[in-house]
Amino acid sequence: TKLRVGLLFGGRSGEHEVSINSAIAIATALDAQDNAMKYDVLPVYIQKDGIWQAGDIARQVLDSGKPLTSETNDKKQLWQFPPQVAEVDVWFPILHGPNGEDGTVQGLLTLMQVPFVGSGVLGSAAGMDKIAMKMAFAQAGLPQVKYMAISRSQIWSNPCVFPKLCDEIEKTLDYPCFVKPANLGSSVGIAKARSRTELETALDNAASYDRRIIVEAGVVAREVECAVLGNDNPKASVVGEITYNSDFYDYETKYTDGRAELHIPAQIPTAIASQIQEMSLKAFTAVDAAGLARVDFFYLEKTGEVFLNEINTLPGFTAFSMYPQLWAASGVPFPELCDRLIQFALERHQ
Ligand code: ADP
Ligand code: MG
Ligand code: MG
Repeated sequence: TKLRVGLLFGGRSGEHEVSINSAIAIATALDAQDNAMKYDVLPVYIQKDGIWQAGDIARQVLDSGKPLTSETNDKKQLWQFPPQVAEVDVWFPILHGPNGEDGTVQGLLTLMQVPFVGSGVLGSAAGMDKIAMKMAFAQAGLPQVKYMAISRSQIWSNPCVFPKLCDEIEKTLDYPCFVKPANLGSSVGIAKARSRTELETALDNAASYDRRIIVEAGVVAREVECAVLGNDNPKASVVGEITYNSDFYDYETKYTDGRAELHIPAQIPTAIASQIQEMSLKAFTAVDAAGLARVDFFYLEKTGEVFLNEINTLPGFTAFSMYPQLWAASGVPFPELCDRLIQFALERHQ
């Protein structure tokens, strides 16, 4: 008998549309040849308002690629899961960003006692919060850029504290620095500050997104990424590079066609690539990730230094995304990658 795979996509996040595209690619791969004999896809769509849909409605979103809009204020509906949810043998959540990549959905699926693809509550939450993530990486001895963790209250509550905070950031990190909300993705809310005025604006803006904020010393570097697959004995893919024509890899650059290019494998020295693969596996273990993660780095060509930037526990998974492309280049084609992820989910649940 076939395994019923609950493909969970959409979600209450700024990356809702990306998630739909990831789900389309995965559904196609699970309906292809070998996988079609093993798996039945049950699409489950989370609307932007948080309501779950399955059956024809979810299928329609997959077929059209367009989000469903029926904003509701009825919180009671949030607890009315479609009946198909009870039929799922294994979940494949492909929700990017808050309310999906951050441990919230993983907690719900854990309570359901059904296996699911990817990291559990801890790995997801630690991988999403840039402050928690950096603390775990530092503890594991992984090199990172200098940073400061800041709270919203330091920015908003006390007008006497704010100038001192800015002084300290200037003294510790200098310009340019990057100001980021701790719990987002896709570069949302991130700004590069080159002056005191820009720093003040960036901090105020980041505080509107999150209670927790991080400020980092800016580096001039190549951006390289590595894909990790597995559970307790994970493997690293070849390394890829992203190049783009803008000041930094911001939201617009990420999601405007033709603004960024992937290069696989990255044209970097072999020793650097090996170092990146090794660091990726350490980063994966440091936050207790499982199944999959994409680990992102800054490579400073001039000095040969490599800094770990971040881990993404549910990276973009469209046919054009870095994660599946890195595995394709490492000998694991897209359909086989989906199959392996489901098998890793089952292995972890045992
Ligand atoms: P997200 O999780 O939203 O992708 P990142 O921390 O990866 O956030 O930052 C987004 C982009 O901002 C990076 O890909 C890079 O282009 C730029 N960036 C972030 N931090 C730094 C830094 N310390 N120095 C230089 N560029 C940075
Ligand atoms: Mg990220
Ligand atoms: Mg990033």
